[in-house]
Amino acid sequence: MIPIAKPIIGEDEINAVIEVLRSGNIAEGQKVKDFEEAFAKYSGTSFAVAVNSGTAALHIALLAHGIGAGDEVITTPFTFVATSNSVLFTGAKPVFADIREDTFNIDPDSILEKITPGTKVIIPVHLYGQAADMKAIMEIAQDNDLIVIEDACQAHGATFEGKYAGSFGEGTFSFYPTKNMTTGEGGIITTNDKEIAQKAKMIRSHGSKQRYLHEMLGYNLRMTDIAASIGITQLGKIDDFNKSRIKNAQYLSRNLGNIKGLTLPHVDKRCRHVYHQYTVRITGDISRDDVVSSLNKMHIGTGIYYPLPIHKQPFYKELGYTDSLPVSEIASKEVISLPVHPSLKISDLDTISASMREIMD
Ligand SMILES: *Cc1c(COP(=O)(O)O)cnc(C)c1O
Repeated sequence: MIPIAKPIIGEDEINAVIEVLRSGNIAEGQKVKDFEEAFAKYSGTSFAVAVNSGTAALHIALLAHGIGAGDEVITTPFTFVATSNSVLFTGAKPVFADIREDTFNIDPDSILEKITPGTKVIIPVHLYGQAADMKAIMEIAQDNDLIVIEDACQAHGATFEGKYAGSFGEGTFSFYPTKNMTTGEGGIITTNDKEIAQKAKMIRSHGSKQRYLHEMLGYNLRMTDIAASIGITQLGKIDDFNKSRIKNAQYLSRNLGNIKGLTLPHVDKRCRHVYHQYTVRITGDISRDDVVSSLNKMHIGTGIYYPLPIHKQPFYKELGYTDSLPVSEIASKEVISLPVHPSLKISDLDTISASMREIMD
């Protein structure tokens, strides 16, 4: 089986963890500080605050900006549910804008249509490893006095016009094992705002700067030194991981050209796409689900990200969402992601493209 995702854990990661375990300091400590410093530097931001998941990073970024009941947050429904759930955690209301057909990222024109006097934040998601149109989004934010929190959970090392994902507004990243780099479970918030960084640190640890002095309501969303030691090691490899992903994607696109009913990933010229996923669209006579089952029979792993847009999820319907967001709804029926991770061999890529060709012909 060629898996759809595979974390790369080497001897360096194993030794880093052993070193932390032997030290006896296994919860949040110096390794977390070192990881934060290294990640901020990597992303071109002044501060980073490490937490225990990407979901926690989103939740904290919103809380650090004082978002809560009565506020509206515009985001995309074509993402992992964590993006909008984090808005619900705060008591604010997620408002869904539709996506662009070519990049699957939030459509700036649709954002404009959704702005009301209650709008406080835009959360663009850099889906599949390609940044949303940050030029248009930052302009909209400036014109309407809105906060931007980037969901960069799939976009470590991605850039837009040469600037790193997560450095436009506040950035939020995940280190779940399927992501471009991992810490097991984990997340981080990047920011250039010292006050936001300080607040985020307090919220992650029961609202305290000083032990047992609690200035606000907070949570326990801390990262461990065990996880941070993996993160430090993985951060040293992320550029190589991404280079492999890009090379694999280019190889697939060269081999999958000119197949009827198959739309290959569109790369915005302003972006460095880091291919968290290599996602194609199936529009021919064969159904997407038939392509999935044929590939799986041929021992090729696939992923559907995402089969149901968030506004159509049972829980969101219960909350009263009745939006019609046609571009997202069609995409959820047509997309399929093929393996693109750094562990693939050329022979795997050849197998994937030959199988796709056979199925689609
Ligand atoms: C993975 C992911 C998250 C959540 O990250 P966790 O670490 O799993 O909490 C949020 N948004 C997107 C787009 C993701 O891909």
